[in-house]
Amino acid sequence: MASTTTESKIADNLGRIERRMADACDRSGRTPDSVKLVAVVKYAELPWVEALLAQGVADLGESRPQQLLERIPLIDGGVRWHLVGHLQRNKARKVLPAVSLVHSVDSFRLLTTLERLAGELELTPNVLLQVNVAGETAKHGFDPEELRNGWDTVTACERVQVEGLMAMAPYADDPEASRPVFRHLRELRDRLRDDALPLSQLSMGMSRDFEPAVEEGATVVRIGSGLFEGLERDRDRA
Ligand SMILES: *Cc1c(COP(=O)(O)O)cnc(C)c1O
Repeated sequence: MASTTTESKIADNLGRIERRMADACDRSGRTPDSVKLVAVVKYAELPWVEALLAQGVADLGESRPQQLLERIPLIDGGVRWHLVGHLQRNKARKVLPAVSLVHSVDSFRLLTTLERLAGELELTPNVLLQVNVAGETAKHGFDPEELRNGWDTVTACERVQVEGLMAMAPYADDPEASRPVFRHLRELRDRLRDDALPLSQLSMGMSRDFEPAVEEGATVVRIGSGLFEGLERDRDRA
Protein backbone atom coordinates (compact mmCIF):
# COMPACT_ATOMS: atom_id res chain seq x y z
CA MET A 1 0.00 0.00 0.00
CA ALA A 2 1.18 3.50 -0.76
CA SER A 3 1.26 5.86 2.22
CA THR A 4 -0.91 8.94 2.23
CA THR A 5 2.06 11.24 1.74
CA THR A 6 3.27 9.20 -1.23
CA GLU A 7 -0.20 9.28 -2.73
CA SER A 8 -0.68 12.98 -2.26
CA LYS A 9 2.77 13.87 -3.59
CA ILE A 10 2.23 11.77 -6.68
CA ALA A 11 -1.26 13.19 -7.18
CA ASP A 12 0.20 16.72 -6.93
CA ASN A 13 3.06 15.97 -9.32
CA LEU A 14 0.78 14.29 -11.83
CA GLY A 15 -1.79 17.08 -11.63
CA ARG A 16 0.87 19.72 -12.22
CA ILE A 17 2.34 17.87 -15.20
CA GLU A 18 -1.09 17.30 -16.73
CA ARG A 19 -1.90 21.00 -16.37
CA ARG A 20 1.36 21.95 -18.05
CA MET A 21 0.63 19.47 -20.86
CA ALA A 22 -2.84 20.96 -21.30
CA ASP A 23 -1.39 24.48 -21.38
CA ALA A 24 1.16 23.42 -24.01
CA CYS A 25 -1.71 21.95 -26.04
CA ASP A 26 -3.60 25.23 -25.70
CA ARG A 27 -0.63 27.25 -26.89
CA SER A 28 -0.28 25.09 -29.99
CA GLY A 29 -3.97 24.79 -30.85
CA ARG A 30 -4.25 21.12 -29.90
CA THR A 31 -6.78 19.38 -27.72
CA PRO A 32 -5.49 17.94 -24.42
CA ASP A 33 -6.62 14.44 -25.38
CA SER A 34 -4.27 14.46 -28.37
CA VAL A 35 -1.29 13.74 -26.08
CA LYS A 36 -0.87 10.68 -23.92
CA LEU A 37 1.32 10.46 -20.84
CA VAL A 38 3.37 7.30 -20.36
CA ALA A 39 4.67 7.08 -16.81
CA VAL A 40 8.24 5.77 -16.96
CA VAL A 41 8.65 3.85 -13.72
CA LYS A 42 12.24 2.58 -14.03
CA TYR A 43 13.31 4.36 -10.83
CA ALA A 44 10.00 4.05 -8.99
CA GLU A 45 9.27 1.94 -5.95
CA LEU A 46 6.28 -0.38 -6.26
CA PRO A 47 4.03 1.71 -3.94
CA TRP A 48 4.70 4.75 -6.13
CA VAL A 49 3.53 2.81 -9.16
CA GLU A 50 0.43 1.77 -7.26
CA ALA A 51 -0.21 5.40 -6.36
CA LEU A 52 -0.02 6.32 -10.05
CA LEU A 53 -2.50 3.63 -10.98
CA ALA A 54 -4.82 4.89 -8.23
CA GLN A 55 -4.70 8.27 -10.00
CA GLY A 56 -5.93 6.67 -13.20
CA VAL A 57 -2.62 6.36 -15.05
CA ALA A 58 -2.93 3.31 -17.30
CA ASP A 59 0.24 3.49 -19.39
CA LEU A 60 3.50 2.47 -17.73
CA GLY A 61 6.94 2.40 -19.30
CA GLU A 62 10.18 0.64 -18.43
CA SER A 63 13.48 1.15 -20.16
CA ARG A 64 14.98 -2.29 -19.57
CA PRO A 65 13.33 -5.45 -20.90
CA GLN A 66 14.42 -7.46 -17.86
CA GLN A 67 12.87 -5.04 -15.36
CA LEU A 68 9.77 -4.79 -17.49
CA LEU A 69 9.27 -8.55 -17.43
CA GLU A 70 9.92 -8.71 -13.67
CA ARG A 71 7.47 -5.92 -12.94
CA ILE A 72 4.52 -7.05 -14.98
CA PRO A 73 3.43 -9.85 -12.62
CA LEU A 74 3.73 -7.50 -9.62
CA ILE A 75 1.19 -5.04 -10.96
CA ASP A 76 -2.50 -5.72 -11.25
CA GLY A 77 -3.92 -5.96 -14.75
CA GLY A 78 -5.42 -3.19 -16.79
CA VAL A 79 -2.02 -1.62 -17.48
CA ARG A 80 -0.65 -0.96 -20.93
CA TRP A 81 3.09 -1.55 -20.81
CA HIS A 82 5.57 0.37 -22.94
CA LEU A 83 9.18 -0.52 -23.57
CA VAL A 84 11.04 2.76 -24.02
CA GLY A 85 14.66 1.54 -23.94
CA HIS A 86 16.89 -0.62 -26.08
CA LEU A 87 15.57 -4.09 -26.89
CA GLN A 88 18.20 -6.80 -27.32
CA ARG A 89 17.11 -9.24 -29.99
CA ASN A 90 17.40 -12.19 -27.61
CA LYS A 91 14.82 -10.59 -25.29
CA ALA A 92 12.32 -9.85 -28.03
CA ARG A 93 10.43 -13.13 -27.91
CA LYS A 94 9.44 -12.57 -24.29
CA VAL A 95 8.85 -8.84 -24.57
CA LEU A 96 6.63 -8.79 -27.64
CA PRO A 97 3.58 -10.50 -26.14
CA ALA A 98 3.87 -8.44 -22.94
CA VAL A 99 3.80 -4.87 -24.23
CA SER A 100 1.34 -2.64 -26.01
CA LEU A 101 4.02 -0.48 -27.65
CA VAL A 102 7.77 -0.78 -28.22
CA HIS A 103 9.06 2.81 -28.57
CA SER A 104 12.62 1.86 -29.28
CA VAL A 105 13.08 -0.14 -32.47
CA ASP A 106 16.50 1.20 -33.37
CA SER A 107 17.80 -0.92 -36.26
CA PHE A 108 16.57 -2.71 -39.37
CA ARG A 109 18.02 -5.90 -37.90
CA LEU A 110 15.78 -5.61 -34.84
CA LEU A 111 12.77 -4.70 -37.00
CA THR A 112 13.34 -7.76 -39.17
CA THR A 113 13.67 -9.96 -36.09
CA LEU A 114 10.41 -8.59 -34.68
CA GLU A 115 8.64 -9.22 -37.98
CA ARG A 116 9.79 -12.85 -37.95
CA LEU A 117 8.88 -13.37 -34.28
CA ALA A 118 5.50 -11.73 -34.78
CA GLY A 119 4.79 -14.32 -37.44
CA GLU A 120 5.84 -17.18 -35.18
CA LEU A 121 3.84 -15.84 -32.24
CA GLU A 122 0.91 -14.75 -34.39
CA LEU A 123 1.06 -11.19 -33.09
CA THR A 124 0.75 -7.81 -34.75
CA PRO A 125 2.92 -5.74 -32.39
CA ASN A 126 2.82 -1.95 -32.34
CA VAL A 127 6.19 -0.25 -32.56
CA LEU A 128 7.86 3.10 -33.03
CA LEU A 129 11.18 3.65 -34.74
CA GLN A 130 13.71 5.44 -32.57
CA VAL A 131 15.66 8.10 -34.43
CA ASN A 132 18.97 9.49 -33.24
CA VAL A 133 18.14 12.95 -34.52
CA ALA A 134 21.06 14.72 -32.92
CA GLY A 135 23.59 12.07 -34.03
CA GLU A 136 24.81 11.36 -30.50
CA THR A 137 27.32 8.53 -30.60
CA ALA A 138 26.27 7.11 -27.22
CA LYS A 139 22.58 6.88 -28.13
CA HIS A 140 20.64 4.19 -29.90
CA GLY A 141 18.50 4.94 -32.90
CA PHE A 142 18.42 5.23 -36.66
CA ASP A 143 20.37 7.88 -38.41
CA PRO A 144 17.66 9.88 -40.27
CA GLU A 145 19.37 9.34 -43.62
CA GLU A 146 19.77 5.60 -42.97
CA LEU A 147 16.08 5.38 -42.15
CA ARG A 148 15.04 7.12 -45.37
CA ASN A 149 17.36 4.98 -47.45
CA GLY A 150 16.12 1.74 -45.93
CA TRP A 151 12.44 2.65 -45.80
CA ASP A 152 11.54 -0.35 -47.99
CA THR A 153 12.34 -2.59 -45.03
CA VAL A 154 9.71 -0.71 -43.02
CA THR A 155 7.00 -0.80 -45.66
CA ALA A 156 7.67 -4.51 -46.22
CA CYS A 157 6.53 -5.36 -42.67
CA GLU A 158 3.24 -7.22 -42.69
CA ARG A 159 2.96 -8.14 -39.03
CA VAL A 160 4.76 -5.34 -37.24
CA GLN A 161 2.67 -2.17 -37.10
CA VAL A 162 4.96 0.84 -37.37
CA GLU A 163 2.88 3.55 -35.70
CA GLY A 164 5.38 6.38 -35.74
CA LEU A 165 8.72 7.72 -34.55
CA MET A 166 10.44 8.29 -31.21
CA ALA A 167 13.38 10.48 -30.21
CA MET A 168 15.25 11.73 -27.19
CA ALA A 169 16.91 15.12 -27.11
CA PRO A 170 20.49 15.46 -25.84
CA TYR A 171 20.66 16.45 -22.20
CA ALA A 172 20.43 20.20 -21.67
CA ASP A 173 19.31 22.37 -18.77
CA ASP A 174 17.22 24.55 -21.04
CA PRO A 175 14.15 22.70 -22.36
CA GLU A 176 14.14 25.00 -25.39
CA ALA A 177 17.39 23.36 -26.50
CA SER A 178 15.34 20.22 -27.25
CA ARG A 179 12.88 21.96 -29.56
CA PRO A 180 14.92 21.66 -32.79
CA VAL A 181 15.27 17.91 -32.20
CA PHE A 182 11.52 17.50 -31.79
CA ARG A 183 10.80 19.66 -34.82
CA HIS A 184 13.27 17.64 -36.87
CA LEU A 185 11.56 14.39 -35.85
CA ARG A 186 8.15 15.74 -36.88
CA GLU A 187 9.50 16.94 -40.23
CA LEU A 188 11.15 13.57 -40.84
CA ARG A 189 7.85 11.89 -40.05
CA ASP A 190 6.05 14.20 -42.48
CA ARG A 191 8.45 13.22 -45.25
CA LEU A 192 8.24 9.47 -44.59
CA ARG A 193 4.50 9.07 -44.05
CA ASP A 194 1.97 8.18 -46.70
CA ASP A 195 -1.60 6.91 -46.77
CA ALA A 196 -0.55 3.32 -46.24
CA LEU A 197 1.72 4.21 -43.31
CA PRO A 198 0.48 7.43 -41.68
CA LEU A 199 3.00 7.33 -38.78
CA SER A 200 0.49 9.02 -36.52
CA GLN A 201 2.48 8.69 -33.28
CA LEU A 202 5.38 10.89 -32.19
CA SER A 203 6.89 9.82 -28.86
CA MET A 204 9.01 12.73 -27.67
CA GLY A 205 9.50 14.74 -24.51
CA MET A 206 10.53 13.73 -20.99
CA SER A 207 10.23 15.42 -17.59
CA ARG A 208 12.48 18.32 -18.46
CA ASP A 209 11.35 19.02 -22.02
CA PHE A 210 7.80 17.77 -22.55
CA GLU A 211 6.39 21.25 -23.12
CA PRO A 212 8.35 22.05 -26.31
CA ALA A 213 7.69 18.43 -27.37
CA VAL A 214 3.93 18.88 -27.09
CA GLU A 215 4.13 22.21 -28.91
CA GLU A 216 6.04 20.47 -31.72
CA GLY A 217 3.46 17.71 -32.09
CA ALA A 218 4.22 14.93 -29.58
CA THR A 219 1.35 12.45 -29.27
CA VAL A 220 3.10 10.56 -26.46
CA VAL A 221 5.30 12.02 -23.73
CA ARG A 222 7.45 9.73 -21.56
CA ILE A 223 7.61 11.14 -18.04
CA GLY A 224 9.62 9.62 -15.20
CA SER A 225 11.39 11.70 -12.57
CA GLY A 226 8.91 14.58 -12.63
CA LEU A 227 6.17 12.31 -11.32
CA PHE A 228 8.23 11.30 -8.33
CA GLU A 229 9.61 14.63 -7.20
CA GLY A 230 9.83 14.94 -3.43
CA LEU A 231 9.83 11.18 -2.83
CA GLU A 232 12.76 9.28 -1.35
CA ARG A 233 13.61 5.82 -2.52
CA ASP A 234 14.51 3.47 0.29
CA ARG A 235 16.53 1.06 -1.78
CA ASP A 236 18.25 1.03 -5.14
CA ARG A 237 16.96 -0.84 -8.12
CA ALA A 238 20.32 -1.63 -9.62
C1 LIG B 1 13.98 7.30 -18.26
C2 LIG B 1 13.42 7.59 -19.57
C3 LIG B 1 12.41 8.55 -19.72
C4 LIG B 1 11.90 9.39 -18.56
O1 LIG B 1 12.88 10.34 -18.23
P1 LIG B 1 12.63 11.42 -17.07
O2 LIG B 1 13.68 12.43 -17.31
O3 LIG B 1 12.82 10.68 -15.80
O4 LIG B 1 11.27 11.96 -17.24
C5 LIG B 1 11.88 8.74 -20.99
N1 LIG B 1 12.32 8.05 -22.06
C6 LIG B 1 13.28 7.12 -21.96
C7 LIG B 1 13.71 6.39 -23.17
C8 LIG B 1 13.87 6.86 -20.71
O5 LIG B 1 14.85 5.94 -20.62
